[in-house]
This record gives sequence, C-alpha cells and structure tokens, in this order.
Amino acid sequence: MKLYNTLTRKKEEFVPIQEGKVSMYVCGPTVYNDIHIGNARPMIMFDTVRRYFEYKGYDVTYVSNFTDVDDKIIKKAIEEGVSCQDITERYIKSVKEDMDAMNVKEATYHPKATEEIDGMIEMIQTLIDKGHAYEKNGTVYYRTRSFPEYGKLSKKNIDDLEAGHRDIKVSGEEEKEDFLDFVLWKPKKEGEPAWKSPWSEGRPGWHIECSVMSKKYLGSTIDIHAGGEDLIFPHHENEIAQSEAANGVPFAHYWLHNGFLNIDNKKMSKSKGNFFTIKEIAAQYSLQVLRFFMLSAHYRSPINFSRELMEASKNGLDRILTAVYRLQELAEKAEEKELSPEEDELLKRTAALQTKFEEAMDDDFNTADAVSAIFELVREANAQITEHSSREAVEAVLGTLEVLCDVLGLITEKQEEILDTDIEALIEERQQARKEKNFARADEIRDTLLSKGIILEDTREGVKWKRA
Ligand code: AMP
Ligand code: ZN
Repeated sequence: MKLYNTLTRKKEEFVPIQEGKVSMYVCGPTVYNDIHIGNARPMIMFDTVRRYFEYKGYDVTYVSNFTDVDDKIIKKAIEEGVSCQDITERYIKSVKEDMDAMNVKEATYHPKATEEIDGMIEMIQTLIDKGHAYEKNGTVYYRTRSFPEYGKLSKKNIDDLEAGHRDIKVSGEEEKEDFLDFVLWKPKKEGEPAWKSPWSEGRPGWHIECSVMSKKYLGSTIDIHAGGEDLIFPHHENEIAQSEAANGVPFAHYWLHNGFLNIDNKKMSKSKGNFFTIKEIAAQYSLQVLRFFMLSAHYRSPINFSRELMEASKNGLDRILTAVYRLQELAEKAEEKELSPEEDELLKRTAALQTKFEEAMDDDFNTADAVSAIFELVREANAQITEHSSREAVEAVLGTLEVLCDVLGLITEKQEEILDTDIEALIEERQQARKEKNFARADEIRDTLLSKGIILEDTREGVKWKRA
C-alpha cells in the first residue's frame, strides 16, 4: 500500500510503527461557525482513508481535535453577548451532526483544546527547559532557529522566510528575539478565557494544541498526520518543530494533505465568503451525494464545486444504489441452486473488480478509480443478475458491492424516509418551543429537519415546509 508523503514528496510504501495498527491524527475545525463543505473535504477523505485501513485489517486509532479556544471564537462570543463556551458547545454539536450526516465515523478520540491545557503547559515548559522557547512579559515564544530542521515539511528555507518577512511586524510581538519565532502561550486580554500558567494567566497558541493532543492520545511518534494543504505551513511545520524538539523523536512518519475544494477555481473559505455550509447543501441534496462528489476526485487534486457536478454525482450515486436495492430484493427471493458456468465467470469478474478497487486504493487512495471499479461491477450486476440467478451469485455480487461502498462510506441500507406526520409533529413542537422562548430547541428542530432535507419557511400564514 502506497501513500504520498508530503514530508518526502514521494509515494512511499506504508509501514506501520506497530504491526497491524495505525495511529492517525487529523487536524479538526475551529468551532465558531457552521462548517462549510471545504472543511468537509478532509473529514470525508481521511475518514475514507481510515475505513480503507480498517478494511485491510488494521486496528486504527483516529484522533481529531476541536479547536475551542481562538480569537474568532472570542469575537463571536462578544458579538452575541454570550460565553465562549456557549459558542463552542453550539458548534461542536453542529459539526458532529454534520459529520454524522456525511457518514463520517466518530473519531476514537475527539479532544477539545480547552480540556488539554495542562499538557500544553507541560510541553511548553519542556521546550523552555531545553532552550527551544523563552518567555517575554508573559508571552512564550518558540525559538524557531533552535530547531535546525525547521522547514523540512514545507520545503521552506529559513533565509528565504527571513527575506520575505523583513518588513512585516506583528503588533504586540516586537519583543520577539526573531521574527520567525511563534507564540506558544499568550497572556489574556480583558474578558478573554484564560488559564493559570507559570508565565501569565492566558491561553495557548494554536500549534501547540495538536502537538500535545497527538502525543497524549497516540504517543510521541505516530503513523499519519493529516489535514488540508493550507495547514502545511505554518501549522504543521510548527507542530513538527515543537513535538520533535520536546520529544526528541520523529513526530509523524507520513504527512497527508488534501487539496482544496474550490468554487469558481478559488478556495472556498469563510474569510472570502464564497462558501456553502454543509447544512445549506443538506437542504438540497442527501449528504451522501456530497460524499460521492468528493470521492470522484483524488484527495490531493483540487476539486471544483458546481451544481452540475453535484447533479452528476447524484445520478452516479443513484445508479449504484438502484443496482444495490435491486440485488437486495432479488437476494430475498433467489433460489438456492448450483452456480451456472456463466455465474461462475461472473463471480470471477466480481473478484477481479474487487482487486481492481483495492489496487486503486492501494495507490495513494485513488478513490476516483475505486469508484470506476464499483461502476463496472454495477454494470455486470445489471446485465447478469436476474430473477433466475442463484442465491449464491446474487449474494456474492451484492456482498461485494456492499463492502466496497462501505469502504467509501456510502450507505447501502435503504434510508428510512422521514414521514410527513413526523415532520408536522416536529414543526408543532418547534412552534411550542418558540412560544416558550426556548429558541435553542426551536433552532435544533429546524436543523434536524434541515439535515433530513426538509426546509422550513416562516410565512404570515404559518410555517410551510418542503422537501429539498
Ligand atoms: P479551519 O477551520 O479553517 O482551520 O479548517 C479545518 C480543516 O478544513 C483544515 O484541515 C483545512 O485545511 C480544511 N479546509 C478549509 N478550507 C478548505 C477547502 N476550501 N478545501 C479543502 N480543505 C479545506
Ligand atoms: Zn493541527
């Protein structure tokens, strides 16, 4: 099994640290907003990577954090006049709903930065003790030049960084020994969440979070560290500097980065405002369609989001699921009888297509080719399996299709449709909640319905709803 390692810029054979096991850390979202479908790309693609390792028999420990202390969270809390915790709890819940709706498996551990502060203080102290960090007026900085391998992931050269940044000064950081140094701990400003530390009452920088959570849940050296390609520099470069300087061993053997999800060939991002939230897309499509759309491209390539491609994905997924449902029905009725010579051949081709799927996935998780193998199998099934087929043949083809879809996180069980009566009941409950000024519950109901593709519209004549 080969995977492309950003650290070496090569496809390499995967060799786990411990036989049969994979330790994997994926940088998670900052929770101050509903996440957009760009953020969904690493979630879906690395969930697929995890599922494939599991299919191959590995025992995977998957860690993905929530960054729940950050300037953007503080800003949002001030805007709304609520606590940071109110904001982070609301959006962690929202992200978890989205992940569930995209059939992203729950992580083995889902740590929150605010619950790991002790570990961060400990690692920062170790870095100070080893001469890799220093304190100035309550702020602790990482001494970047003390780590000779700085730049090895992003292939940046310290001198080039210096030339590029000579004129840029970050306000409040004039006291740094060197502009390359980055913050590990910063003192609080009025009204900000803060924790006691030997240096000041304050909070950790972003990069130290992941170094600490990865070490705590997976150990000092892990197999795979992953995230979007925008994280290569500075986030992952800084994580390496911190972890390797503190622990004295390599941080991660393989670094995997997904390409961007673009819209009109520009990166979808919150700051540019060119985004769709997952909940907005869920109002129009099943999130299985979104997942299938992501799988249609290699995870390292850019992918352009458009209605046309979503429609094409919807049709493609329908084609697969229609075939699966037909086989499920046939399997119930099929007769137990000897395999015919044609069926024998069909099962051989089925096995060959499973191998083709595996070869695609073994080649740096080429999901696009893996999906093609599934389509070929669907064509075989549609052409060869009929009501006269033997049970063994139907079950073999169906079983293979179900297993391969599951590796990609595509759900093959028939989804239960939400009934009109259930919708009406929930709308009624929402109206009641609003009367009682329980807006949290009212919003929750609206979001639950939205995740099932039901759109509510508050009109003068009352609440109207429609299916997306
Ligand atoms: P953020 O909350 O911005 O830190 O992003 C969380 C994760 O989503 C990171 O791994 C980012 O690299 C990734 N990400 C953000 N925007 C995009 C995008 N447009 N395409 C792909 N990945 C993205
Ligand atoms: Zn991270």
